[in-house]
Amino acid sequence: MNDKEKSRFCFKPVMMIEDGRGRLFIVSAPSGAGKTTLCSAVLDRFSDLLYSVSYTTRKPRSGERNGIDYNFIKKEDFKKQIKAGKWAEWAEVHENYYGTSAEFIDNGLDSGRNILLDIDVQGTIQILERYPEAITIFIMPPSVNALRRRLELRDTDSKEIIDRRLKNAEVEMAKKDLYHHVILNDLLSDAIKELVAIIENYRSK
Ligand code: ADP
Ligand code: 5GP
Repeated sequence: MNDKEKSRFCFKPVMMIEDGRGRLFIVSAPSGAGKTTLCSAVLDRFSDLLYSVSYTTRKPRSGERNGIDYNFIKKEDFKKQIKAGKWAEWAEVHENYYGTSAEFIDNGLDSGRNILLDIDVQGTIQILERYPEAITIFIMPPSVNALRRRLELRDTDSKEIIDRRLKNAEVEMAKKDLYHHVILNDLLSDAIKELVAIIENYRSK
């Protein structure tokens, strides 16, 4: 079985979900591996899939819309919400805070919606503690050089930020075996097909 075929099968236990409850899907990847591109492709494909818009203290990139790509908030507000228990998970990534609203996830799952999260490895570990039935998917770039090229071509970050993201990428990629599925995002159309097949397989219908 090659790596591509392996990604279709799951060697980690997958928990059943109660009838009528939605399924949580977590997609993680080093920055620039293609998570946003893949997530928007599957959101177009599955009308029942809800996207969890994360909260972040980082500055919006050009073209990013508040409430659609992220909910952009101030650091002091984010910290207050940690104390108030608003986050289902939160993490500090590249010197900014990122978090997922617990209320959004709980309401969505209770009303039978499937939900897609785009979060990092630290967040994935926290979500699995709280929602052990979540399905986890890691997106791998073909190589670190390809990742650098994608970040440079995307042209949204300075060289210093790209270098920091690449350093973090190596740490994240070393943890890919924590995930149920690993998808290699080399040819985009193949990677989309794999992600669609995984979601189709587990989603609550
Ligand atoms: P992430 O959300 O993981 O940071 P993006 O989805 O923004 O990554 O992708 C980073 C850049 O790489 C974007 O410019 C995107 O168009 C490009 N990209 C994504 N997938 C591929 C692929 N399979 N081949 C080539 N370029 C890709
Ligand atoms: P970016 O700033 O490039 O959009 O995202 C940087 C990293 O933060 C990515 O690895 C992304 O998956 C992660 N991230 C985005 N939203 C969240 C979140 O809500 N929680 C956690 N833990 N990580 C997040």
